[in-house]
Amino acid sequence: MSTIENYEKIAGNLKIETRPFIDGKYVEPIDGQSFEKINPATGEIIANVAKCNEKDVQKAVDAARKSFNSGVWSKCSPEERKESLLKLAELIRTNSEEMSVLESLDSGKTITDCLNEVGGEVPNFFQWYGELIDKTFGKVVPTGQDVSSFIVKEPIGVVGLVVPWNFPLLMAAWKAAPALAAGCSIILKPAEQSPLTAIKLAELAKEAGIPDGVFNVITGFGDTGEAIGRHSDIDAVSFTGSTEVGALFMRYSGESNLKTIGLEMGGKSPFIVLDDADINDDLIENAAMSAYWNGGQNCSANMRQIIHEKVKDDFLHKVLEKTKSLKVGNPLDPTSDMGSMISEDHFNTVNGYIQKGIDEGASLLHGGVATGSSKGSFVYPTLFDNLKEDMTISKEEIFGPVLGVLPVQSMEKALETANNSNYGLHATVFTQDVDKAFSMAKNLRCGTVSVNGFSEGDIKTPFGGYKQSGSLSRDNGTEALDQYLQIKTIWFTLK
Ligand code: NAD
Repeated sequence: MSTIENYEKIAGNLKIETRPFIDGKYVEPIDGQSFEKINPATGEIIANVAKCNEKDVQKAVDAARKSFNSGVWSKCSPEERKESLLKLAELIRTNSEEMSVLESLDSGKTITDCLNEVGGEVPNFFQWYGELIDKTFGKVVPTGQDVSSFIVKEPIGVVGLVVPWNFPLLMAAWKAAPALAAGCSIILKPAEQSPLTAIKLAELAKEAGIPDGVFNVITGFGDTGEAIGRHSDIDAVSFTGSTEVGALFMRYSGESNLKTIGLEMGGKSPFIVLDDADINDDLIENAAMSAYWNGGQNCSANMRQIIHEKVKDDFLHKVLEKTKSLKVGNPLDPTSDMGSMISEDHFNTVNGYIQKGIDEGASLLHGGVATGSSKGSFVYPTLFDNLKEDMTISKEEIFGPVLGVLPVQSMEKALETANNSNYGLHATVFTQDVDKAFSMAKNLRCGTVSVNGFSEGDIKTPFGGYKQSGSLSRDNGTEALDQYLQIKTIWFTLK
């Protein structure tokens, strides 16, 4: 483990690129506009980033279309694509320390999390999909002697990738890696709160041999995302973000060219502890991390902790101790467990929810409304007991470190409470009874259920949501490729 001094030194020497990357080079935004990018942990401006508009989106789409139609990537052999993606993975690893510091400054995330994501998971995604693409086969259809038929998959075309700020480079990699492996040309739009590592990634993609026009990055706000969503020469958009904006992408598609839309959206996931569970350190560690990891700014955060009355006192006592022990502080300090919220706006939103919890009668055990300082947007891990299902903080996604306990008296009530949500992204269940575990896993209406440990699965397992957490598309696993592929039937009549 390195030191805070080392990371601060790296931060001081960073050369930060702030321009969009189109057709293989950094370019000035057409109208020359920019916005201030603030480090949310210090309140200081760290860069002025290009504020792209629909003219820049048009330029990126033109470059992407030209590269796609030329076949320079879309029709090259899978081995060639694999070689570039493996090289990109290596380049990210080589640059991972600097990129992790950049990610931390940009987002307020802890350096420890950034190193795990940027240095570990992100390159693994490019490697995994690079390795997958020359092992992905089509199908031969059973027919009579007079016919031969094949089902093949082809890249869908020009794809817009619109991503959020909570795992900036990781969310970009979840989409860019399978889209590139499939042979698509991409236009990546990072969130305005955290654009810096995506901009840097483009340069590495070029160095890895990905042809000009295949990997484009556009920076900006919601209107830039809208220009992507409404563009008639974009064949598909894969979006991760809030349910409200996901719904807008369905509208943009309907009002333009009916492009395919893949949606990964919000959640309000349950963490269920049944009456037979052993309330040991491992369970408590999982309960705390499921809610507080990344400052609770996690789509699958388990904020509704549905705890059987029989074990609730023991659970609460231990989770309170754990909550008190977490260190909130300088994101560049490797000993910090939590950094800052992504922005002052979001700091205010999370505090608003905490106040609402107090006003609506939940019992505050630790944390509470943070007093803002001009130097950063830090919220402390906050623990509530006695949530009721109809309280605002039981229903709405807070996206901050607010763990709420809902006591229940039976497994059936735990299941009913867990499923009583517009969202359906994730659930965790703790029990020692295998029958109960299977019953819960089968009946929870969500895209991922983890038993006896909080987990989103890994690169090999599809991730996405039921209900208003997602569409049928999935990130991760072999399923993610399907977002970026068309299915073609070839039918030969043999003479
Ligand atoms: P957001 O919806 O505000 O923004 C996401 C992206 O959409 C950003 O790039 C933003 O610029 C763009 N955007 C914003 N308004 C737009 C508009 N009107 N038209 C087009 N594009 C627009 O989400 P966020 O605040 O960045 O991220 C937090 C949300 O993301 C949470 O709801 C979280 O649950 C969700 N999320 C889901 C997953 C998942 O896999 N299901 C993963 C991470 C985050």
